[in-house]
Amino acid sequence: MKPRPQDLTVDQLSYYAALSADVGARKSISRIYIPKQAGKACAVAAHQVLRVTCCDGPQVADFNAFAQNDPSEYFWSGRTRTLQGSHLHVGDRLWSTEPKMRPMFTFITDTVEKKPQPHNATSHDLIYSRCSERARELQTGKRGQPNCNDNLKQALREIGFADDYVHDAFNIFMTTGCDDQRRLFYVPSEAKKDDFVELYAEIDAIVAISCCLNVPAELIDKDPQLVKGLVVGVKQGLAVTFDDPAELKRVAQLEFPSASPEDLAAVLDRALKNGMWERGAPMSREAWDTLYKVIREGGLLTQAMPYESVFDPRFLN
Ligand SMILES: [Zn+2]
Repeated sequence: MKPRPQDLTVDQLSYYAALSADVGARKSISRIYIPKQAGKACAVAAHQVLRVTCCDGPQVADFNAFAQNDPSEYFWSGRTRTLQGSHLHVGDRLWSTEPKMRPMFTFITDTVEKKPQPHNATSHDLIYSRCSERARELQTGKRGQPNCNDNLKQALREIGFADDYVHDAFNIFMTTGCDDQRRLFYVPSEAKKDDFVELYAEIDAIVAISCCLNVPAELIDKDPQLVKGLVVGVKQGLAVTFDDPAELKRVAQLEFPSASPEDLAAVLDRALKNGMWERGAPMSREAWDTLYKVIREGGLLTQAMPYESVFDPRFLN
């Protein structure tokens, strides 16, 4: 069979494998720490290895790259996805824009341990775009939130690049998938503290990296007591919902003071009848599907969120 343009030759494969195996012997030339919700840019010369490390626990790094001698040639996320696939792995290459359209980097090392995920979700995403101010606002209703688009702009400004040089990113450590209704979703990053990937530079390049905030995973790791408290609160709330209808109506009336008691009673009765809540804290898949449908159709949730990406049973007992 004729090799495809993205396929590595036997010689290339053994060259990169040897390079990757030599990981301990590598000499560090320069080290840059990127704090959470910030971005940094730097030059990487051809034949150097760029290592991106999760130094503060599970994180996502949004990656942009340019040719050093002509930044109008930059990382082409769409072409790379077409040639290599929806997620990048060791042996894949990061391709540049036309007219050169050539490998800028080769992915040579990955320490992230891949666990089975729903719908074959996996790490090192190439399907999501970078988060941006407006995208975060649509998601959360809050304006002016930190985001990768602005982090990358800031990083590039520091080296004299215009804001519109920011392009669709390679989302290193981001764990994503596509469900059976073709909706994209992400789960907390599979990467652990000190996990890293290595990219071998095929050309003289400039890279910019944003450290995206991975809120749910970070909260669980940083403040397990808070998350545990929340789970206990939900369990108590469910007990009231099912065992004390008068108290449920009283709380609902406090929460929605302008609603009439009759309307509230009707809404609560219907929600219970439709199975929107379950007696036990581990919500069933059916209950989530019903609730999900309601909040999606009501416009409260703008992104796909399969059951597996929402429920983490570790605090239930
Ligand atoms: Zn982001």
